[in-house]
Parts: sequence; structure tokens; C-alpha cells
Amino acid sequence: MTNETDENITIIPRSEHTISRRNISANALKVLYRFNKNGFSAYLVGGGVRDLLLGKKPKDFDITTNATPKQICQLFRNCRLVGRRFRLAHIIFGSEIIEVATFRGHHTQKNTREDKNLSEKARNGILLRDNIFGSIEEDAIRRDFTVNSLYYTIDDFSVRDYVGGLQDLKQGVIRLIGNPEIRYREDPVRMLRAIRFSSKLNMRIELNTEKPIQYLAPLLQEIPSTRLFEELLKLLQTGHGYSTYHMLKKYNLFEQLFPLISSRFSKNNDSEMERIIEQVLKNTDCRFKNYQCINSGFLFSTMLWYVVIDCAETLIKKNRLSYCEAFALAINNILNDQCRSIAIPKRITTMMRDIWQLQLRFSRRHGRKVNKLIKHPKFSAAFNLLKLRAGIEQKNDLEELSIWWDDYQHSTHVK
Ligand code: ATP
Ligand code: MG
Repeated sequence: MTNETDENITIIPRSEHTISRRNISANALKVLYRFNKNGFSAYLVGGGVRDLLLGKKPKDFDITTNATPKQICQLFRNCRLVGRRFRLAHIIFGSEIIEVATFRGHHTQKNTREDKNLSEKARNGILLRDNIFGSIEEDAIRRDFTVNSLYYTIDDFSVRDYVGGLQDLKQGVIRLIGNPEIRYREDPVRMLRAIRFSSKLNMRIELNTEKPIQYLAPLLQEIPSTRLFEELLKLLQTGHGYSTYHMLKKYNLFEQLFPLISSRFSKNNDSEMERIIEQVLKNTDCRFKNYQCINSGFLFSTMLWYVVIDCAETLIKKNRLSYCEAFALAINNILNDQCRSIAIPKRITTMMRDIWQLQLRFSRRHGRKVNKLIKHPKFSAAFNLLKLRAGIEQKNDLEELSIWWDDYQHSTHVK
């Protein structure tokens, strides 16, 4: 291992690490080689390097370069610039997207209009724009966690470490680079990322990185609900939803994402709502591990089922509505409230509505309605919720209903 202490960089030569080009996507290599051939420096960075060093298969490959977004687009015809807050180039190869970022630099104190277009912090410390370009050394300290700031180069196939990421990787530590409070205030989503990586990589969060999370958690309210939705999918639907859920609860983050659920948490964590959430997350993790598709509409409709029921019951008491009326109104109220924290897209909320409405139709077991229900596009998801409810509530009639529909859909009566 070469340790050039004057630059505070550790270079790990090819002979001393396990990253092989065979495990890097051909498209990512193509991009790296083209940058080099055209006189730019370019590195594999982020989850790609981290996961390869851990012997895991990376989810995607991120590249960083000294080429500006304009230069990247000149070099690759299949390039699209995305993001305003953090401008990136997407290089598109069919279904694979290689994300290329220009090295980020320090933020200046100047306040010219041009600077403001590139870098801007709100009064509360949130970075509204992070588009000042810099050197690789500056880029390294602007990344979030040390384990995400390792650079692999095809120049000599070495790995460069400017922030002690290798040691943290070996010791299983998630450590924010720089002052944690400032870094969380710049971008509160880093709190969710700390939980996600800790859960996914089974690593512990370093004490100073961990400490501010509980009291800074409300800063998530400053994040656009559309971005939180994207993060939520990564948190709950990538194979570690169950452990992530418990960590989010522990660090007061869950209540920022699902206030309607957290306000109904019970002392012993054993309400029907809490048990169904745990069950659906365990099932989701299992499906992910078995490469089965995951239906976000089903996941969210299950998590919020008892919230809808509670709300409907309150509405009946207050307004003397029929159950159907109250139920429909509860669905609207809950979705409106929930989408304030997390912008669940319309196609998913439509599915959630269907899954919820179908629950009321399961009790009708006669006539043509039965076959009509079975043919409903969301029947299968709705039936899965019925089965989960039956398992959680352990009420004879619900269990009997679930068995009946199970038998019926597999019987010859279905036309
Ligand atoms: P994975 O792709 O496996 O979820 P990742 O670490 O690659 O994990 P990405 O979201 O793909 O995560 O981001 C790529 C890299 O960009 C990160 O590893 C990190 O270095 C940097 N990065 C991403 N988000 C932030 C952020 N909010 N603040 C600072 N750096 C970030
Ligand atoms: Mg990545």
C-alpha cells in the first residue's frame, strides 16, 4: 500500500485489492476508457467501488470525472443531463444508465449571481444547488460517507482513498465525512442514507454520525416530498425493509415519513397495525431476495390499512355516515395527508384505493359479483391483503373468508 501522507491519500495498488474489471459493467468500463482516451480523468466511485470491495454485486455504477457536463455531452451521444440541485449526466445504454458527475468543489462565500446559479444554501443550511466543480480531492470530501468516497481508476487499476474509507469499510463503520451536523443540515436525506447503508451493509453508524440524527430528523420536512418518495422505495423495497423500518423508528425518522402511522404506535409495539407492517416488510424482503416483483401499491396500502379503518370509524361516530361513505372519505383523507410527507404517485394511489375498496367486497360471496371480483386487475393484491389481515387479526370469520376466496379462485367455478 502506498501512503502519500503529504496529500493525505492512500493508494491501494491492484495487487492489494479485489476489484477486477470482470465485475464491472462493460458499459461503465467503456465510459471510463473513452474519458481517458480524450484526455480527461475519470473514476468509478460510490456504491460500485464500495460493494465490489465488499464482494457484493453493485446495484449500479457511478463515475466521476473532471470533464464538465457540457464536455461529457460532447463525448457521448447517448448522454442526457439531469438534476438542477445536483447536475449529473446520464449515459444511457439501453436499460443500463451510467451516472456521471463532475468533481464537486468547495462552496465560495461570494454571492454573485453567477455563483448563486451554481451553488446556493438556504438560510437553514440546506444546499439548494451543488454545482461548483473542483478537483478529485475536493470531490472526495463533498461525498456523504467515507465508504462511499473510494475511487477506482483504469489508469493503473488502483483504488484511491482520501478520507479513510477503506479502514471504515474493513471495520464496518458508516461515518459521515466532515462535521455531521453541518452535513445533515446541507442535505437531510443523508440521515436516511445513513440508515439505509447501515441496514443494507450490516454496518454500525459511528457515534458522531449517529448522535445528531434523532434531533435533526424534523429537517426532513424541508425535503421535497417527491424526493422522499424515491428514497422511501430504496429504504423499504431493496431487501432490508424490515430492519430499516426498525432503525427509522429508533432515530425518529419514521414519524417524518409516516406521521399517520407513527401517531398510532402502541406502547408494546404489538397493535394490529404494527404487526401487519412488520409482516408485509418481511414478505417484501423475501420477495426481493427471490427476485420477485414488488408492488409498492400493495406495500403502502397494507401499511396504512388500519389507519384508514380507524379514520373511517371516527368519521362514522362524528358524522353519522354509512360505512361505505365513511370508508370512501377516509381513503381520501388518508391519502391526502400521507402525500404531504411523501408524494406517492397517482398510479400507486389509484392502486391503493382499489386494494382498499376491494376489501369491502370480499364479504359478498354470492351471484355474479364473485366472478367479477376475481377478474378485477387488483384482485390478487387485494386478496393478499385479506390474507395478511386474517393472519394478524386471527378472527374466525376473516380466516374463513380468506380460505373461501383461496379455494374459490383455484376451483373450477371461475369462469
Ligand atoms: P447504491 O447505488 O448502492 O444505493 P450509492 O452509494 O452508489 O449506493 P448513489 O445514490 O448511487 O448511492 O450515489 C452515488 C454516490 O454519490 C454515493 O456513493 C456518494 O458518494 C455520492 N452521494 C450520493 N448522494 C449524496 C448526498 N446526498 N450527499 C453527498 N454525497 C452523495
Ligand atoms: Mg450508486
